[in-house]
Amino acid sequence: MSKNSILVINCGSSSLKFAVINPATEEEKINGIAERLGSSEAVLRWTLRYKNNGEKGSQTLGLAAHEAALEGLMGLLREEGLIEGISAIGHRVVHGGENFSESCLVTDEVLNAIENCIKLAPLHNPANLTGIRAAQKIFPGLPNAVVFDTAFHQTMPAEAYLYPIPYSLYKEQGVRRYGFHGTSYRYVGQAAADMLGLDINNSNILVAHLGNGASACAIKNGQSIDTTMGLTPLEGLVMGTRSGDVDPNLFSFLNKTLGYTLDETTDLLNKKSGLLGLSEMDSDCRVIEDAAVEGNEHAQLTLDVFCHVLAEKLAGFAAAMGKIDALVFTGGIGENSSIIRKNVFERLSIFGFKLDEKLNDETFRGKSGVISQEGSTVGMVVATNEELMISRDTQALTA
Ligand code: ADP
Repeated sequence: MSKNSILVINCGSSSLKFAVINPATEEEKINGIAERLGSSEAVLRWTLRYKNNGEKGSQTLGLAAHEAALEGLMGLLREEGLIEGISAIGHRVVHGGENFSESCLVTDEVLNAIENCIKLAPLHNPANLTGIRAAQKIFPGLPNAVVFDTAFHQTMPAEAYLYPIPYSLYKEQGVRRYGFHGTSYRYVGQAAADMLGLDINNSNILVAHLGNGASACAIKNGQSIDTTMGLTPLEGLVMGTRSGDVDPNLFSFLNKTLGYTLDETTDLLNKKSGLLGLSEMDSDCRVIEDAAVEGNEHAQLTLDVFCHVLAEKLAGFAAAMGKIDALVFTGGIGENSSIIRKNVFERLSIFGFKLDEKLNDETFRGKSGVISQEGSTVGMVVATNEELMISRDTQALTA
């Protein structure tokens, strides 16, 4: 059987997402997730994309961790006759620090460098490493590649990535803005340029990646020149449960007024803030939108804060780029929420954005396309596909 598939793995602390993609046709054969890893209720769920328009299946894994999840996945791939076709495995890795400006093959040196970045991403990088090591064990002989969320932003100029704090903290501890969602930006930037008939190497594209985690990026001539997330994915925009930018003195304020420890405030800002904290309803944008549509003023205010921060950042990026060829929305909220897109368009009207309400309302659930009127600065939606980007990189490194 010819080797015609790439296995893409995105390993979190208690989940493992996967997809098998044919690099020639870029079609997904199967995708899925192993969830609740580490608990006694671990479960593997998948969708066979080539069967009956997406046949779904699941299997309980018992008390399973990442290795057992990959064994379960291997069994499934064998059953479906897909295992022999896999030529390489591509892994998402969150933090590559300043060591990686592009994807690469896994070697001992690369694993060490990822390990050295654990202090920058203590929740993510250990899980990513677990996934790589488990894959090396369960699928011996297959090459593994790593694709970093931070790599795309390594082109940012120093004026965009340095924080105005003692320079020694950058030199000695690596404290700087790194940025995340880079794999999505690379995919979305190129796809937007292709759709608009632009040369990515001669273009100015703003992208808002709005999911549970949210960030924005200024892509000039195909390179990231600025982004909103920072040393960690907490900085920048309002997110599902993350605050984004707040006054850093909040740490000492909450300590002095309420006795909060460092960990408590860190937890508050990461898990209890953002849409959830402000709305006092939910982290899911849909719930807040529904409430706002029904006249709940506090829900509307929450959406307005979300859009205010986003529009402010995008306006700053636009000024730095000098010209906007396109503003692209992506991620769960960006791809589906006509309400958020309309709100942001109105706030950015100074840049010549005029919304086509019909196109805006019709663009959701994976549909990509322009949502601005003729004669307007272009606004559009591009459905992101990080798995495809990982499979492209893995194929390029191993073919
Ligand atoms: P992640 O960052 O975890 O990958 P996604 O990109 O899948 O997240 O985005 C998930 C978010 O997308 C959900 O929390 C929800 O708020 C939002 N979302 C999905 N569909 C809609 C919709 N129709 N309207 C508004 N928001 C939506």
